[in-house]
Amino acid sequence: MEVTSSGIKLDEAAVRDLEATFRGPIVRPDDATYEEHRRVWNGSIDRHPALIARCTGVADVIAAVTFARRAGLPVALRGGGHSFPGLSTCDGGIVIDLSMMKGIRVDPQARTARAQPGVLLGELDRETQAFGLVVPAGIVTTTGLAGLTLGGGIGWLMRKYGLTIDQLLSVDLITADGTFVKASERENPELFWGVRGAGGNFGIVTEFEFRLNSVGPIVLAGPIFWPMEESPNVLRFYREWIKDVPDELTTIVVHRYTPPLPVIPPELHGVPIVTVICCYAGPVEEGEKVVRPMKEFGTPLLDLCVPKPFVGHQAMFDPSFPRGWWYYFRAADLAELTDGAIDIIASNALKMKSRLNAFPIFQLGGAISQVGQDETAFNGRAAGHTININATTATSEGFDQEREWSRNFWSELEPHHTSVYVNFLMDEGEDRIRQAYGGARYDRLKQLKQTYDPDNFFRINQNIPPN
Ligand SMILES: Cc1cc2nc3c(=O)[nH]c(=O)nc-3n(C[C@H](O)[C@H](O)[C@H](O)COP(=O)(O)OP(=O)(O)OC[C@H]3O[C@@H](n4cnc5c(N)ncnc54)[C@H](O)[C@@H]3O)c2cc1C
Repeated sequence: MEVTSSGIKLDEAAVRDLEATFRGPIVRPDDATYEEHRRVWNGSIDRHPALIARCTGVADVIAAVTFARRAGLPVALRGGGHSFPGLSTCDGGIVIDLSMMKGIRVDPQARTARAQPGVLLGELDRETQAFGLVVPAGIVTTTGLAGLTLGGGIGWLMRKYGLTIDQLLSVDLITADGTFVKASERENPELFWGVRGAGGNFGIVTEFEFRLNSVGPIVLAGPIFWPMEESPNVLRFYREWIKDVPDELTTIVVHRYTPPLPVIPPELHGVPIVTVICCYAGPVEEGEKVVRPMKEFGTPLLDLCVPKPFVGHQAMFDPSFPRGWWYYFRAADLAELTDGAIDIIASNALKMKSRLNAFPIFQLGGAISQVGQDETAFNGRAAGHTININATTATSEGFDQEREWSRNFWSELEPHHTSVYVNFLMDEGEDRIRQAYGGARYDRLKQLKQTYDPDNFFRINQNIPPN
């Protein structure tokens, strides 16, 4: 037995056995790199795993699972490390860190891509856009493909090409007993159903296969800004405008203080704004016509919605969500932006104090709503919008106050909530997870959990307990 600096006891002989064959590094609490690797994106999460097993391939994943099972250690899985509540680390357990598994293979003829679970969204775009192809995914390039996909995956192309899971063709997965399984529409279809929305519950995905679609490389995209106090009017106009827009257009409304970026004139830095951000996944000239009414509404402070490379647009939020800041989120799906919801949103936007908060309201619909409700485990295909009330501070200073703002805002909106996107949940308990899936889907997922993980080995996640 070894007692480490974090007070965790490990069977030294078992760890040595693991190290003897493991291809990647095994990081222990006394190692120089431990601090770097125990940390995750959200700086408010401060946990101390007993071991971090940095896998380089499927054999390492199987070895790590076998070791954890024998040692009786809790297991956290890490793809990109972007989980809001820090589900990719743990206290006293093992982190099976997949972030070194970065293989990507694009087949431009078959229009498919295979990606390993350490791939980040920007890395996948880099490879697929070389052929003018894309997997629809999220809006920050440093987010992990694995966690995002397994919860659904919303982003700039979702109204045209659906959720990330709507383009998923198959997965390779290691189950709780270390068995290799494939899942697709043809092989283990029930598992494939569950993986597409509740993925982390059934095993460790070691490879994703996606269908690719054409986009760009140039798209009409970017934000249009108005002063934040004009939010009620902007949102009312926006609500009417989006009723008729084609599925090529996806928009996100963000309330925030303008960041000090070179593309924004210095006199507008730090100004409270409401911004409608567009991405038109079709011919630029067509997009110009579709977006014109919004651009002509009132007197925008700034209009940065112009033709640009799709990958550039994908990276626009990166500076706003760096690793290490303190983050807290409350989220909800909304059927529509009613007058009541708009007034709550506009008044709470004016109450935020931190210059780093930026809360997005995603426009759903389009291709997402054209997939049958029961085809995947993802809930919320009928929602009109999903809101993510993001409280951010650079350090712990002021964090409690912003978190309170986020909670109060969310509570005021409660009469308008429908469901919630599982990847936007914090650590909110079983009722909220049930709400994220809806009762019938949740019960079906429990059945699946009984088949693939009856001991709840994979439980550091938005957990669906088997019993
Ligand atoms: C800045 C930021 C922007 C975001 N933007 C979007 C967005 O635009 N659209 C969107 O849909 N979501 C978005 N999200 C939410 C995001 O989808 C989730 O945080 C997701 O969990 C991130 O995946 P990850 O691999 O980085 O997470 P990690 O923290 O590494 O993992 C999270 C969880 O995913 C599961 N998991 C990870 N890898 C595997 C695997 N290989 N096999 C099985 N389970 C696994 C595990 O349960 C793990 O606990 C954003 C998050 C952040 C922080």
